[in-house]
Amino acid sequence: MIRTAVSSAVPSTPSRGNFRGSGVIGALQHFETRYGRAALHAAVAAMPPELRTQVFPNQPSLGVLPGRLYSYALIGGIMRAMIAAMKVTDEDAFLRELAAAGMDLTLTTVNRAALNYAMTPASYSLRAQEIWSLYHDSGNVTVLPSKPNEYRVQLADWPAHDNYVCRVCMESRRRALEHMGAVIIEARRERCQGWGHDVCTHFFRWSSLSGRAR
Ligand SMILES: [Zn+2]
Repeated sequence: MIRTAVSSAVPSTPSRGNFRGSGVIGALQHFETRYGRAALHAAVAAMPPELRTQVFPNQPSLGVLPGRLYSYALIGGIMRAMIAAMKVTDEDAFLRELAAAGMDLTLTTVNRAALNYAMTPASYSLRAQEIWSLYHDSGNVTVLPSKPNEYRVQLADWPAHDNYVCRVCMESRRRALEHMGAVIIEARRERCQGWGHDVCTHFFRWSSLSGRAR
């Protein structure tokens, strides 16, 4: 029997290097609430054509579905388009805000159960890979030894790396630590595949854990 290929209007995603829609919907909703629907359309218009065809600006959250995987290229492309459309000058603050909104929404849904078992940075470290794998289909997470008020995570085997996805992941982890009571005084990327390193390393330091055990 001869099988014929069936074409699809939706481009296929890479075999690895994808992000689950549930992790980005909160950020999309936040952007629309804060900047308006016209801004969301402007962001879509700023996307490269090959990425623009993968989103649906007339649907809620650009048609992103919680359970579906989306390429890092698309997620990064949406962030870049938002920044370009809104002429954002402080990219770090902008990405921090979007990541916080995305994390806050996931805490009301699928991530809540996972974080209930990980209410301190120390216990969070033990479940870092499990929580990461809720949203990513690749990437080996290693929490490196550090001082009690510090957290350094290394990401290896993380193909299709996108610089903006890396930045958003760092900001999402910042937000998770804040939810555990940490008052973050330093958060930075020490190493990044986008800078030529073999792995990415995100570092956090906090001044206290308000009302929580370490
Ligand atoms: Zn990176």
